[in-house]
Amino acid sequence: MFRFLQNYPHLLEKMFDLSHRLLQPIRPWLKPNGRLEGIVIWGEEIGKKAVFDCRMCGQCILHSTGMTCSMSCPKNLRNGPCGGVRINGNCEVIPEMRCVWVDAYERSQQMPTYGHELIQIQPPVNRQLKGTSAWINMLHDIDTVNPKGWRIDD
Ligand code: SF4
Repeated sequence: MFRFLQNYPHLLEKMFDLSHRLLQPIRPWLKPNGRLEGIVIWGEEIGKKAVFDCRMCGQCILHSTGMTCSMSCPKNLRNGPCGGVRINGNCEVIPEMRCVWVDAYERSQQMPTYGHELIQIQPPVNRQLKGTSAWINMLHDIDTVNPKGWRIDD
């Protein structure tokens, strides 16, 4: 319903920064398994689904991917497109759908603060965090713990 907002990535990265700042003071109350966790998850599911087609992976990298959800790629690719992007920029799995990574690249070009993060290598997604709150995980650095056996310099 609010997907059009993704076409304003510069505005969205400002909102991301603002949200991050506003949540810091209440960080102690926003804990995994805390009383407020259910409300935060509910808010994320409603809000981020409407704007980003969020799949609740629990490890949000939106600001590093042009405010485009990489989990909405049919292959869940988090480090750029596969080799099957069509000549018109659409997906090889769903031909009528624009490649998530084409959108991510174009939107990242309009993001002065986080646009450069598009080329950062993302660790494999931790499926154990699926359905949890990405905000809470970020506030407590849970989303930056890499799956066992994965090293950034490998
Ligand atoms: S990266 Fe994860 S948390 Fe962020 S919008 Fe996509 S599915 Fe949701």
